[in-house]
Amino acid sequence: MTPGRFEQRRERALAAAREANLAGLVVTPGPDLAYLTGHTPPPLERLTLLVLAGGRDPVLLVPELERPAAESAPGVAGLELASWNDGEDPYALAARVLRAGRYAVNDQTWASHLLALELATADCLFVAAGRALPPLRAVKDDDEIQRLRSAGRGADEAFGDVVRLPFAGRREVDVAADLDRLLRERGHERVEFTIVGSGPNGASPHHGASERRIAPGDAVVLDFGGVAGGYCSDITRTVFVGEPDEEQRRVYDVVRAAQQAAFEAVRPGVAAQDVDRAARAVIVEAGYGDRFVHRTGHGIGLEVHEPPYIVEGDETRLRAGMTFSDEPGIYLPGRFGVRIEDQVVVTGGGAERLNEASRELTVVA
Ligand code: ZN
Ligand code: ZN
Ligand code: ZN
Repeated sequence: MTPGRFEQRRERALAAAREANLAGLVVTPGPDLAYLTGHTPPPLERLTLLVLAGGRDPVLLVPELERPAAESAPGVAGLELASWNDGEDPYALAARVLRAGRYAVNDQTWASHLLALELATADCLFVAAGRALPPLRAVKDDDEIQRLRSAGRGADEAFGDVVRLPFAGRREVDVAADLDRLLRERGHERVEFTIVGSGPNGASPHHGASERRIAPGDAVVLDFGGVAGGYCSDITRTVFVGEPDEEQRRVYDVVRAAQQAAFEAVRPGVAAQDVDRAARAVIVEAGYGDRFVHRTGHGIGLEVHEPPYIVEGDETRLRAGMTFSDEPGIYLPGRFGVRIEDQVVVTGGGAERLNEASRELTVVA
């Protein structure tokens, strides 16, 4: 990653702000700050603030004790670094940097920071970047796609590993612990979630993992992911403990066909909502329309959920380099659920999957 790339990103962000009639952007720790500077401090009560405004160099205001970390960030070239000491008022310092005007503020900014900035700057107005600006990070460059691809490969391998382990008789939390370990073994520096929804628990799409003992005849929804090389993985496969019954098989086939239909709908120029419609049409046609209780997908990158959203009403035109999930599901309360999820990248003429773990119906022991 060359330092020039961060400067280009900052220029692009500022141009978008100007386009939206804003004086600039202010950014606190989180994925936007990582994207614009390579600096990745944890979000804390001490103020860290990047100010991007026209007509001046960008300023990164950091707590003195985080100055060494900021100085070694890969995108720090071209930034004016300012620091404040405990006991000083960082908002007063920020107010001196901010000229009058309207600024976009990144969506993850803590209310405590934003409210203090508002108090300290009588003539500045802050608006949510997510509403005021087009998404900054939706179109990935080659380096980002490579990182997403290798995170996806690690998740694929963890799935290949976990299906060799026994399921029947073990608790969901035990399988979740296996997934956590396997993701790390397969190159993840962090694990963000390990959903293991067995039997009736699979009908709750965001079930975590419970003490329930997995039994023969269960469908088990496995939805897991984390961070590798700074970028997120997120994959879902549904496996069956022993041979599935007729309805389980039917539901599985419908979800798989819906997932494929969405994938085939992806290409540049198509609206995000059209990809959702493609998956939904298959499930509605099969008679399970009211049991597909969520959108088809979400963007992925530095965050596991980010724009664009593959949902009715999102008219974002897909562009080459956008990355998002394709994850339709069918949920039958009290019985079972099936979801199949891959990450995909929009290419010049269509799409490629970033997950290649088998989508064939998989039986585990
Ligand atoms: Zn989800
Ligand atoms: Zn997922
Ligand atoms: Zn997902």
